[in-house]
Amino acid sequence: MDLTLRFLGGAGSVTGSRFLVDWGTRRVLIDCGLFQGPRALRERNWEPFPVRPDSIERVILTHAHIDHTGYLPRLVKDGYRRPVRATPATCDLLELMLPDAGHLQEEEAGWHNRHRTSRHRPALPLFTESDARRSLDLLRPLPYDHGLDLGGGLSLRLRRAGHILGSAMVELHRDSSGGIPDLLFTGDLGRSGQPILKDPDRVRGADTLVLESTYGGRTHGRDDPRDDLERIIKHAAEQRGMVLIPAFAIGRTQTLLYLLNDLQEAGRIPILPIYVDSPMAIHAVSLYCRHTEDHDLDMQALMREVCPIRPPNMTCVRDVEESKALNDLTEPAIIISAAGMLTGGRSVHHLRHRLGDPRNTILLVGYQAQGTRGRLLQDGAREVEIYGQKIRVQAQIQTLSGLSAHADEEEILGWLGGFEAPPRQTWLVHGEPESAGALANSIRDRLGWRVDVAAHLAGVELPPSAQPSTR
Ligand code: ZN
Repeated sequence: MDLTLRFLGGAGSVTGSRFLVDWGTRRVLIDCGLFQGPRALRERNWEPFPVRPDSIERVILTHAHIDHTGYLPRLVKDGYRRPVRATPATCDLLELMLPDAGHLQEEEAGWHNRHRTSRHRPALPLFTESDARRSLDLLRPLPYDHGLDLGGGLSLRLRRAGHILGSAMVELHRDSSGGIPDLLFTGDLGRSGQPILKDPDRVRGADTLVLESTYGGRTHGRDDPRDDLERIIKHAAEQRGMVLIPAFAIGRTQTLLYLLNDLQEAGRIPILPIYVDSPMAIHAVSLYCRHTEDHDLDMQALMREVCPIRPPNMTCVRDVEESKALNDLTEPAIIISAAGMLTGGRSVHHLRHRLGDPRNTILLVGYQAQGTRGRLLQDGAREVEIYGQKIRVQAQIQTLSGLSAHADEEEILGWLGGFEAPPRQTWLVHGEPESAGALANSIRDRLGWRVDVAAHLAGVELPPSAQPSTR
């Protein structure tokens, strides 16, 4: 049976992950991500999907992040009606995230129409909140390590990826014996030894590997992020300043709460009010507490006492008026708010209010994609534009790098070191060109594997199964 793989997104960029697999007359889509960041990428969301949505038999999602799932409502709007498989925690997270994404689309279109700032009259949302809710009806949970027959001789298994709650790698097998997969998609690959989440599963091999490369050529600091966090929080408290932490609502916010709780319990930082200003992040905290299948044992032990991601001095900020009232705070405090790259949402309103005061700290805690306000600040911009207004950067800009939910280059190479034999072919995806190129070189030099960087819209034929003759 011949397998064909096409890179419909997430190739040459870190957003818009979409991989199409065809065999016989059948077809599945692995991830259904939204393109984000620069306009040229975002415009791809508006192009017709390269194949008819109703020709796809199943969509399989690696994890809930919008760059892997946020196109699903549009695919459904354009005719996709079949099941969507993902882990139970991913399904639960999507109940929060997709309607929110639809709501943001509607808000953005409304804003452009009021301010006449779009070339399109009227500006339309890519999908609405109700489109998103319709797509949720298609979700069918599939636990880790359960085989699923896709028909036509192909089966599927999800493995733990250790990236965010519910995150999975996707294995496709041409025989059902559950040996080495014919095709393995890492999705976003997490890191070993991180708080809260279990480590990524070790994998023995893959005939063809589709590997993420976000942090190719780069290394996360090996220092304990608690040390930097302690220094930054203490300094801000001494300055009588505010610490604004733009953070992804899912994953990063919960890790931060865990670390802040840990530091204050150890008496290493003063106990400041912590405001979590993101309804989604607050919901996600309860989902983290519910989905214990993803947790480390130490988290489970702690949860019997006090939940380690709910510090007692944490305030959940749900409605917009409460969020606006945070502008009146004058005493030192910590505000955690989404979006994590300052591309929209409440974090941008807080940024506008706090950026011009040198006592304040803007603490970046995640990957900042090119073209985002977060990246501009990280690169030392002296002013940034927020809602048409240029604001001078007076606050201190800090980056806490140890918190990444992605494996860095050494960690990826270490994980690949668990393979018993090289894949026949490795394709690098989910990386900006420099990162993917750097990782490709390292894999060639250090492991001697055959590896290429995937090109947007390229298609590749997978060789006939090598099993069982070579293994
Ligand atoms: Zn992700």
